[in-house]
Amino acid sequence: MVVGGVACVIALALTDWLSGSGVSLVSLADNLMTSMAAVATVAAAVTARTGSGRVRIAWAVMAIGLGSFTVGALLWFVYRLTEFEHPYPSVADAAYLVLPIAVGIALIVLSTGFSRTSRTRLVLDALVVAWSFTIVGWIAVLSEIWKSAPGDRLRVAVSAGYPVLDAAVLTIGVLVVARAHGVQRRTLALLTAAMAAIAMSDGVFVYLTATRQPTDTALLYPGWLIGLALFIGAAVTGRGFTHREVIAAQPVSWTSLWLPFVPVLLASAAVFTQSPADLAVGPIPLIGFLLLLAFSARQLLVMSENRSLLATVADQALRDPLTGVGNRIVFRDRLSHAMQMRQRDGLSVGVLVMDLDDFKVVNDTLGHPVGDELLSLVAERIVGSVRAGDTVARLGGDEFAVLIEGRVDHSQLVAHRVVEAFDEPFIVDGQDLLIRPSIGLAVAEQGDPDLLAEDLLKRADIAMYSAKRSRAGGVHLFNAEMLLSETPDNDLFASGPMPASRSGASTVRLLGELRQAIDQFELTLVYQPKFDLKTASIVGVEALVRWPHPKRGLLSPDEFLPLVRRYGLMGSITDLVINQALDDVVRWRKDRLEVPIAVNMFAPSMADLRLPGKFAKALAERNLSPSQLTVEITEDLFLDHMERTKTVLNQLQEFGIRIAIDDFGSGYSALSYMRDLTVDEVKLDRHFIAPIPADQRASAVVRAVLNLANELGLTTVAEGIETAATADWLREHGCHIGQGYYFSPPLTADKLRDILKRCDRDSTCRATGCSLRYGSCHWSESDVTHIELMR
Ligand code: C2E
Ligand code: MG
Ligand code: MG
Repeated sequence: MVVGGVACVIALALTDWLSGSGVSLVSLADNLMTSMAAVATVAAAVTARTGSGRVRIAWAVMAIGLGSFTVGALLWFVYRLTEFEHPYPSVADAAYLVLPIAVGIALIVLSTGFSRTSRTRLVLDALVVAWSFTIVGWIAVLSEIWKSAPGDRLRVAVSAGYPVLDAAVLTIGVLVVARAHGVQRRTLALLTAAMAAIAMSDGVFVYLTATRQPTDTALLYPGWLIGLALFIGAAVTGRGFTHREVIAAQPVSWTSLWLPFVPVLLASAAVFTQSPADLAVGPIPLIGFLLLLAFSARQLLVMSENRSLLATVADQALRDPLTGVGNRIVFRDRLSHAMQMRQRDGLSVGVLVMDLDDFKVVNDTLGHPVGDELLSLVAERIVGSVRAGDTVARLGGDEFAVLIEGRVDHSQLVAHRVVEAFDEPFIVDGQDLLIRPSIGLAVAEQGDPDLLAEDLLKRADIAMYSAKRSRAGGVHLFNAEMLLSETPDNDLFASGPMPASRSGASTVRLLGELRQAIDQFELTLVYQPKFDLKTASIVGVEALVRWPHPKRGLLSPDEFLPLVRRYGLMGSITDLVINQALDDVVRWRKDRLEVPIAVNMFAPSMADLRLPGKFAKALAERNLSPSQLTVEITEDLFLDHMERTKTVLNQLQEFGIRIAIDDFGSGYSALSYMRDLTVDEVKLDRHFIAPIPADQRASAVVRAVLNLANELGLTTVAEGIETAATADWLREHGCHIGQGYYFSPPLTADKLRDILKRCDRDSTCRATGCSLRYGSCHWSESDVTHIELMR
């Protein structure tokens, strides 16, 4: 568009030059104005094409207005080339005058928070201002034109048309902006500001023509140019505009109270300066009458609006002002009533409680206006997916509830429709936000006559928290077991840093995609072999999670685990990893390969008392021995719940699962971990391993830790071994196990199996009696680096 605009300016300037009229400052400004008007037309047309509903209509009208302005500017250009002076009035004026009309219509169409009555009042206010301005303009300037050219009514009409239309549209703009809020205000304010800038230049133009002064001055152009630039800005921001009808009664703003009175007072004052004889000539009596009519109609409307406002205020005591659905009071009232009636009518009562999964992220990263907009859209979707007569309410924050009366299956049906309503992303401020709800449902059936309204609501709440914890999506129907598993440790997981580089919208989007990927089992695992440093045989593998993202490629844990930690997805990841890893162990076993496996755990998850049971079940289901599993606890988080963690670790160890402290030395509590927790293995952080043996201080630290661990009888593992020298040094200093790119990068399950099988077939390996011995295997460079050096 910018390129088109520049090309336009050059083409017009070239035409000027070829026609011999020269390139003056005025002609340059004129050419620039024509080009910008063309760009603004295209921008408005694009916004109309991409928008829908009212937004599309408003911007289509704007495209017509701006297109007409462009035609006017081109006509002017032609006049400049062919005639000495601009004809006035001309067809170009008619074309220019379409713009304010279009802006006025667009502002009314885009206006938000107006009822039909207040929109009519808006138009009447604009008429009042327009008529008042005509009276003032007549007395100040137009009567002179009238006197100098008595027969030229067209000239007077056109001269009056500019300021009157501009004033009317500005009035509409100011009133509409005063009522709008959030994202919508920006577009409306830009449109009004653009109109103000255009009106300024129009005013100067009319004054110059009326007083027969030359109009070829560059002073005229800044207003038009700024105005057009602002229209382009409005068209661009207009793409994120979502129109919402009035949802709550709003008191009349101060601006709309005083705005029509000021011009009326000005017009009255102007009239008093004239003699009755002067007033009798010209249109003042007629315009005065029209002004009176518009003003009276407006006052009548204000009175009727006030009456309905009172009724609405009474209604609003029961409504949520942001979303327009019921509030907590009305919900409780209707629920109590439904619970009383259910026995008599033999019906069931269902309560659905839902809460948005990532609403806090939206508020934190995109700001509260976007959060408010999202809540309104969510309320609209819920209302659109329930039956007429079901009560929808906002209980507070991002929590909504639906009261469903009827048969039991009705509740389930409605609940599933609500879930489906969230399949489509919400478009707020021009961004797609995939937001998902956690939904709990509790139903009071016939067989439960003593159940109170309060209890039913509480049950739905518990079911909703269960949905939140499980992250399984869908509707969670309350059952008694949920009372037992109700644990308050959700907040525990809501810590950890946000990826700093990410913008709010992309964080929310990524989080939505991550939830989806977890639900659809799209995360995968790779396995990095661990080697016995003395025998060069593989003693196990470590499972490392990866996210094959459809657009961003294969994402490593650093790129998404911070989100997992912060937004409480750790439980889901742990479940996914443990199940997938053990499934792979079973698959390898079918090929006669027994591979011990290590999985990583988030330290806070170790305080989950259900964990040992979960692991035991996963192992038992696959008939695997617990000794085949090692749990690595990442040390980058503090263990907040030490007592609970100790209990969990003890249970895991009693069961036979090995425990390793991962990244040992990277945190602050390394030594206290060694003192307080009974662990089996210590994995030295790779940042200590990389610099040895060259770095004496790092070598000294590693030596000390190896000695300490040996003293405590712990197995020592060095991760991040990248060179033969490091591997040799570690072996010489008594480190038991090594892991790192020097031996092997992390491999896919299939690739690992192929390699293990290939080596299993190797006769030299078998001769040693160890099926997992690889010292003599010849792996290609891409498989493993320098493995032969390990012999
Ligand atoms: P970690 O448990 O310390 O895993 C070792 C990391 O070091 C892996 O990074 C591995 O690819 C990398 N690595 C291996 N050899 C070398 C080497 O020679 N040089 C260097 N510079 N790096 C090497 P990755 O896969 O990016 O994982 C990063 C961390 O993410 C892991 O560190 C672990 O803390 C966490 N993580 C990975 N998968 C899971 C998981 O399933 N659950 C949890 N809770 N955390 C995981
Ligand atoms: Mg690890
Ligand atoms: Mg590590």
